[in-house]
Amino acid sequence: MLKKHQSLINFSHFFPALAPKNAEDQAYYFDNAATACTLAPAVEAIKNFYENAHGSVHRGVYHSAEQTTTEYEKVRTQTAAFINAQSSDEIIFTSGTTDSVNTVAYVWAQYALAPGDGIIITQAEHHAHYVLWHEIARRYGAHVYVLPIDPVTFCADLSGVDHLLTKSIKVVAVTTCSNVLGPIWGADSALLYTLIKKARGAGAAIVIDAAQTIAHASVDVQALDCDFLAFSVHKMGGPTGLGVLYARKKRHVEMKPYRFGGGMVAAIADDYMIWQAAPHCFEAGTPPIAQVVGLGAVLDFYTKNVDFSLVQQHEAALCAQLIAGLKNIPGVHLVGNTDLLSRQGHVVTWYVDGIHAHDLATTLGMYRCCLRAGDHCAHPISALWNRQATIRASFFMYNSPAEVEYLIASIAESITRWRAIL
Ligand code: PMP
Repeated sequence: MLKKHQSLINFSHFFPALAPKNAEDQAYYFDNAATACTLAPAVEAIKNFYENAHGSVHRGVYHSAEQTTTEYEKVRTQTAAFINAQSSDEIIFTSGTTDSVNTVAYVWAQYALAPGDGIIITQAEHHAHYVLWHEIARRYGAHVYVLPIDPVTFCADLSGVDHLLTKSIKVVAVTTCSNVLGPIWGADSALLYTLIKKARGAGAAIVIDAAQTIAHASVDVQALDCDFLAFSVHKMGGPTGLGVLYARKKRHVEMKPYRFGGGMVAAIADDYMIWQAAPHCFEAGTPPIAQVVGLGAVLDFYTKNVDFSLVQQHEAALCAQLIAGLKNIPGVHLVGNTDLLSRQGHVVTWYVDGIHAHDLATTLGMYRCCLRAGDHCAHPISALWNRQATIRASFFMYNSPAEVEYLIASIAESITRWRAIL
């Protein structure tokens, strides 16, 4: 039986950036929805690569270049297994979630969309989806339909979906988890599965932004029945500059390269060019090899050590603890479904009467608490609370109840300080 606020899991020793080099460097890091600290095995693998490897991938025929190619392709296979893709050909390496969803737009959607077609997104999309699909719709004469988020339950409101799907909907592009509200699809994402089933029935392609899920729950592209799925490696304890795009094999015939250069051409003459098969035709130029090697170490780590049901319980318990603490502080308004967050969340977001989120975050920085304030690159959702800036704490497998206790005390003190001078 766990004592009050005892940790279910403890991973902090695997993340070197969390070990203070001296007392002044001690940080309480709660900005994991933006980016997580890097895993020691990933740092080690990248260091080892730069110290020992030579040669690019898919080019050199000497031994070390071939070894690098083997390692790079092994990570592709590992990635496919991690998200339960059917084949490693379905994995395209990109520079991040933003790059992955932009790739979907340019390699597939621009050819699939005709004037008058519809694209469904939600009001809680990160700008990576929200801005992209509006811009793509504008360019190709399509319409964006925004599924509202219910202001009471903070879940997606599917009441208008059946009617929407009578229009020519070609794309449903949605996030698995909001970076502001956390879960928006009800318990166990049941509403997401309902939406996907209906959208499939209407012939739409499904594009999933899994940036906020990949490190917090298991992601299964076949169970999701999606066509495309995007995530960033830096949000799971891996290096920056690397993302993954899953592209279902059935869609490959509809996709055309949009970046051109070395490594993506199978044959070339003055009057014709033949592309490599997917995924290589979508990875023009020298890819982020060191980062992919780092991803390999991250995936090894998750496979050996991480039980997602425990991670989810642990992070949700931290959410519940913070929510309970914030509810005791006058003037604090939580946004998001606090009941669901306390069971399946990893982000807690709020605003405070009379104190700007940036001011509060700056003061919390003096307590060495790292939190994000502003609109979190998801501005449209803030219409639900009159577009006030919010402050967000987001948890990762290494955060602890003791840190959350310190955070709650720091928030209460910071608010008292601001009240004294305002
Ligand atoms: N989607 C969501 C839900 C996110 O939280 C983020 C990062 N905040 C992104 C997309 C974009 O990720 P990246 O900046 O790594 O491309």
